[in-house]
Amino acid sequence: MDEFELIERFFTREYEDSGVVAGIGDDGAVLAPRPGQQLVTVVDTLVQGVHFPVDIDAADLGYRVVAVNLSDVAAMGAVPRWMTLALTLYSVDESWLAGFARGLFEAAAEHDVRLVGGDTTSGNAVVATVQILAEVGEGKAMLRSGARPGDTIYVTGTLGDAAAGLELLHIGRPNEFLSRRYLRPTARVACGQQIQGIATAAIDVSDGLYADLNKLLQASGVGGAVNLDALPISAQLAASFGADERRRLALSGGDDYELCFTSGGEIRADGLDVLVTAIGTVTDASGIVCRADGKVVDYTDRGYRHFR
Ligand code: ADP
Ligand code: MG
Repeated sequence: MDEFELIERFFTREYEDSGVVAGIGDDGAVLAPRPGQQLVTVVDTLVQGVHFPVDIDAADLGYRVVAVNLSDVAAMGAVPRWMTLALTLYSVDESWLAGFARGLFEAAAEHDVRLVGGDTTSGNAVVATVQILAEVGEGKAMLRSGARPGDTIYVTGTLGDAAAGLELLHIGRPNEFLSRRYLRPTARVACGQQIQGIATAAIDVSDGLYADLNKLLQASGVGGAVNLDALPISAQLAASFGADERRRLALSGGDDYELCFTSGGEIRADGLDVLVTAIGTVTDASGIVCRADGKVVDYTDRGYRHFR
């Protein structure tokens, strides 16, 4: 099978979308955003051995590479529309490709995202890069830089599950719920759109809450006070790890793909499609001060960084 048959067979799907003037098959895709919309573009690469285990299921990888991008779109408060895929493979393994495409299109279908182009190459590691193009009303994108002293800091869902799931996979004691939180992250796309206009700043939690909240606070030129007793922990995480481990996973574990955001207004739970928890307050200091039982806890962490 050559490259063109491969694209035709695994990555070309029928769809109706008046915004796609030209899709797969030409030199470039031609896309028409709706009037009054700005384009948000995000891109994320997953490298075998760096971002996912060598033996990951192909469908999980396909799902994940879309989901991590959707999470960035969610953090901008945007509506995902189109994506491109750059895929590097050792060789053509048809059953692997079928699984990968199944996972990829499953995640894309959940948010009506169309695959409109890409690139396919051979190489010495499996590398999957997805770029998503999303729309957001003019001037409405949520940035990291808008947090103000006095705002409340919120987080969606529960924290630490994905890192816990990965650790349990590594030691051969997989927990189904926690593994799934790692392998099949749920991008908070609807929530991102719901808090747009209410949130002053937002970021998605991919490197761990502490590191990502720090980025948001720095971008806003403010500090934060975090109540560690308020961190949302799932029942499954609580059942598998002790108190100190839970705190470490919730603060520094990566891959949760929840949203962390700040807001000066009241967040009404009934307007949102996901649990949202207030975990602290924006301050006019700098850095993060953590408290547990009302006492300051010394906690430092830099999150995952490449080339460190
Ligand atoms: P070119 O040589 O002009 O760059 P390619 O041969 O790389 O074109 O790709 C042919 C067409 O297939 C293009 O429209 C490209 O966007 C699309 N394409 C290539 N690889 C993929 C992929 N993995 N997924 C989706 N579309 C792809
Ligand atoms: Mg090309």
